[in-house]
Amino acid sequence: MLELRPTCEHCNKALPPASLEARICSYECTFCAECVDNTLGNVCPNCGGGFTARPIRPSKNWKGENFLGKDPANTEIKHKPVYPVAHAQFSAPIRNIPPEKR
Ligand SMILES: [Zn+2]
Ligand SMILES: [Zn+2]
Repeated sequence: MLELRPTCEHCNKALPPASLEARICSYECTFCAECVDNTLGNVCPNCGGGFTARPIRPSKNWKGENFLGKDPANTEIKHKPVYPVAHAQFSAPIRNIPPEKR
């Protein structure tokens, strides 16, 4: 199950479960759209993969108790800002390769 982490790992902006700005990599590293586009260049600083929009878990119990009321968002904040110079070096050979070819 997705962790639904509460904030952007870089800028610590709140990303509640219904946020349309939340982006995740395949390891659930979680950032806001602005950081993914402007700071990270769609390169995850932890794994080098790309990002996609985080799906939104239903807030209502439409079927089988599969909803936020039973499976709430994670509350543990992971705030690990990237260092721009270090990320530029790390991402330089990666950022022009589309995620499906990395
Ligand atoms: Zn951010
Ligand atoms: Zn990652």
